[in-house]
Amino acid sequence: MTEYARVRLKKGKEKRVLLGHPWVYRTDVEVLRGPADPGDVVLLENHRGKPLALGYYNPNSVIAVRVLTQNPKERIDRDFFLRRIQQALELRLKLFREATTNAFRVVFAEADLLPGLIVDRFASLLVVQFLTLGMEKRRGDIVEVLEDLLHPGGIYERSDVEVRKKEGLEECVGWILPGGSPEVVIKENNLAFFVDVARGQKTGYFLDQRENRLSLRRYVQGARVLDCFSYTGGFAIHAAAFGAKEVLGLDISESAVALARENARLNRLEDRVRFEVADVFEALRELLKKGERFDLVVLDPPAFVKGKEALEGALRGYKDINLLAMKLLVPSGILVTCSCSYHFSEELFLEVLQEASQDAGRRLQILERRGQAQDHPVLVGYPESRYLKCFILRVL
Ligand code: SAH
Repeated sequence: MTEYARVRLKKGKEKRVLLGHPWVYRTDVEVLRGPADPGDVVLLENHRGKPLALGYYNPNSVIAVRVLTQNPKERIDRDFFLRRIQQALELRLKLFREATTNAFRVVFAEADLLPGLIVDRFASLLVVQFLTLGMEKRRGDIVEVLEDLLHPGGIYERSDVEVRKKEGLEECVGWILPGGSPEVVIKENNLAFFVDVARGQKTGYFLDQRENRLSLRRYVQGARVLDCFSYTGGFAIHAAAFGAKEVLGLDISESAVALARENARLNRLEDRVRFEVADVFEALRELLKKGERFDLVVLDPPAFVKGKEALEGALRGYKDINLLAMKLLVPSGILVTCSCSYHFSEELFLEVLQEASQDAGRRLQILERRGQAQDHPVLVGYPESRYLKCFILRVL
């Protein structure tokens, strides 16, 4: 067994780890015994010295250790990452066997027992994010494994994320394995979408809403639909393809709206879907003033709550858009409303929806209580992995 430095936990701090949580906070560490550079693998032990797990160490982060395995005897080498990525890939191959979709999240970080690593597949391209120092240090092995397992036409890095700062890392963007154009056409639910992995938001496309987009099918026949925060048109184009008679998509980003329009053309739906650059908060008020009504409204805002701090303002934001959307709906209209902020719990979201409905003078029926797509699995013991909430409501 390799001799790793040991990180000893304070008394009582082992429980979370034993229950499967992959994070050890700096404040939970009693002492580091033996030499360990930031990013090195360490052996985690309880306050009596009993080995608990192996993880990688970063004394400069609030999260000092991220657990890689609960088996203290496992070797952390290239083969370890091969096994882990294979295990992740196996689920996706099962989920997407039908070839109606060729874009999915291959590795969802902690939830796939690979803390700090995101890998998305967009047709022949892979997009990777190394979010932590521990993963950054193993990028060579990981890229090799990805090439061996997936034979991608290119690998693009999108490690331009805030969290890297907390790990003492710079942002890093560009080809790791050159793949020609960063713009690819993907297939999702048998529809086509341009994805720009270099200039798009996050890794280029929000794969976590795939199944929620599909769920529009039951509600949009002949409907007039409003898609708020439409980005490159995911919900709007699904709605049109499923038989909506008229769809309006709104987003504040000009480049997103431009790509959304191209996506409408790509699917030959441009006669029924329109996209406009707008601030949703203002646009909803204007639509209301003009007396416009919709049969179905989608709200898929960015994460208003980034940390525990900003909750108050965020709550107001969620209430505001939901209240306006409810007012814009015809009697018995459908509201598809989402939140991707982990710190905004489902219970709190429901409270906000209830308040909004009281103010709007409407009643709500919950038709569906949904989450993120299955290629973003939720790891039991790690509640942070369930971040996306999506309610489908009938607004009476
Ligand atoms: N529904 C999209 C994903 C939305 S991501 C999909 O299915 O792919 C959130 C989007 O909100 C981003 O595209 C961002 O540009 C947009 N956005 C952020 N603030 C906004 C605002 N005030 N008004 C309109 N759009 C906004």
